[in-house]
Amino acid sequence: MSAASRFAAITTSEPPAGTRVLFRTAVVLGGSVAGLMAARVLSDHADHVLIVERDDLAALDVSDEQLAADPVGATGPRPGVPQGSQVHALLPSGQRQLERFFPGFGQQALDAGAVDPPPGTNRFYMDGELRDDPPTGPAAQALISSRPFLEALIRNRVLALPNVRAVHGRAEGLRIENGAVTGVRVDGAEQDADFVVDATGRSSRLSDWLEADGFPRPPMQRMGIKLNYATQLFQRPADAPVWTCISIANPGPGKVARIGGFTPIEGDRWTMLVSGYADDKPGRDADEYRERCVRDFPAEFGRVATGSAAAGEVVTYHQADSRRRDFHVLRRFPARLVAAGDAVASFNPVYGQGMTSAMLHASCLSEYLRGAPALDRPALSYFADVKVVVDAAWQVSTMADLALPHVDGPYPRGYKMIQRISGLIFKASMRDRRINLRLGEVTTMLAHPSALTSPGFLLRAVAIGARA
Ligand SMILES: Cc1cc2nc3c(=O)[nH]c(=O)nc-3n(C[C@H](O)[C@H](O)[C@H](O)COP(=O)(O)OP(=O)(O)OC[C@H]3O[C@@H](n4cnc5c(N)ncnc54)[C@H](O)[C@@H]3O)c2cc1C
Repeated sequence: MSAASRFAAITTSEPPAGTRVLFRTAVVLGGSVAGLMAARVLSDHADHVLIVERDDLAALDVSDEQLAADPVGATGPRPGVPQGSQVHALLPSGQRQLERFFPGFGQQALDAGAVDPPPGTNRFYMDGELRDDPPTGPAAQALISSRPFLEALIRNRVLALPNVRAVHGRAEGLRIENGAVTGVRVDGAEQDADFVVDATGRSSRLSDWLEADGFPRPPMQRMGIKLNYATQLFQRPADAPVWTCISIANPGPGKVARIGGFTPIEGDRWTMLVSGYADDKPGRDADEYRERCVRDFPAEFGRVATGSAAAGEVVTYHQADSRRRDFHVLRRFPARLVAAGDAVASFNPVYGQGMTSAMLHASCLSEYLRGAPALDRPALSYFADVKVVVDAAWQVSTMADLALPHVDGPYPRGYKMIQRISGLIFKASMRDRRINLRLGEVTTMLAHPSALTSPGFLLRAVAIGARA
């Protein structure tokens, strides 16, 4: 099957049918977005699902009702997910998977305080030019909240499942016997496991654990992006004319690449991001932050930053690289073991792909477990599907990042031509509704990137883009 048809199967909204119990105990290492989604899938296939998380999830326990009653105080960033204080947009493809695995999720999230901005309140700027036709249809974002708020909503649903339980502890290794995982080591003690998911994030130690047991490490690809983030929260009046604003400034002669955005979140607030690359580093000083908003971004940013009360300090974050671990190339790998989420691939966050990718990995896991898997062999078909998801996200994000002057590869074959055509597609998307819609479906992971390569689409995009 082609990558595009696998992608279509993985991104489906169809409820997972034909599930059956395959394991007594499945263990998920890491209780963040990827781990929670994997646990949801495993709850259909195991008598017991155990989530091992180094942060104490019991201490974070907060009901939907508490979130609704106190959206500002009920939840917040936690140490195990240090990026949690930064802007986190959930792409529509991720929203679809949430709805698929937790029917009713979208409405319940809105009831608890997540935001669906009123029509006509979104703005999108490319190189300072306002797009006349903001995204509509499936690619328009409709469920916005802070990252800890979204995670709490997902956690509530997963931990309410009768066969899922979380334990507080640090995973330290695996027990592998006769080529299959049979247990995990947590805080020095052994826990039996019939199936294990590593969802411990981009600093996962799985490669070390594999090597220690005589298995090859998955090769890692990195792209040095040197991304600098700074996020601040502001109070949002109910009658604000603009609720969401994204600004992308591409690099060019005398121009510095900068991406910024503000979105409404629970508790009548905005979360605002300004970013820079390499030596362009927004700092923690609130005055300097305001100055940047006024100087480097469209006027809406300055209006929010100077006209609204701050609802917190400026919080910075640096990400040195995008990285992917190519598990799919390994032929020697323990049976009954998979990895998901950032433990497989972590991208430049400005494209908002991470949580959605984690949700699509959960969909891959569901496909694998519903497909009569050979459980005494490595989960090759799972990793083949995950590759399809990672390739799709990697292609979109790294192609844009390769245009940054400080990024020095690795370049894919035909890079110059692809870059030129992508530039024309983006230009055309500012003028043409059909192109904008199709591009939006690809960048929000609803459609496979090959949707941008049909001859009819390309001809139209090149013709319109060249005139723009
Ligand atoms: C600055 C920034 C902004 C981002 N913005 C967006 C965005 O807008 N949209 C988006 O979709 N994504 C975004 N992301 C990516 C997103 O945060 C991740 O892709 C997402 O959290 C999925 O990650 P995960 O669950 O795989 O890992 P993580 O969220 O990193 O979680 C890993 C979990 O494993 C636990 N853990 C780690 N080691 C152990 C251990 N040994 N034992 C037990 N537990 C362990 C940790 O405590 C944590 O709970 C952003 C990332 C960054 C850095």
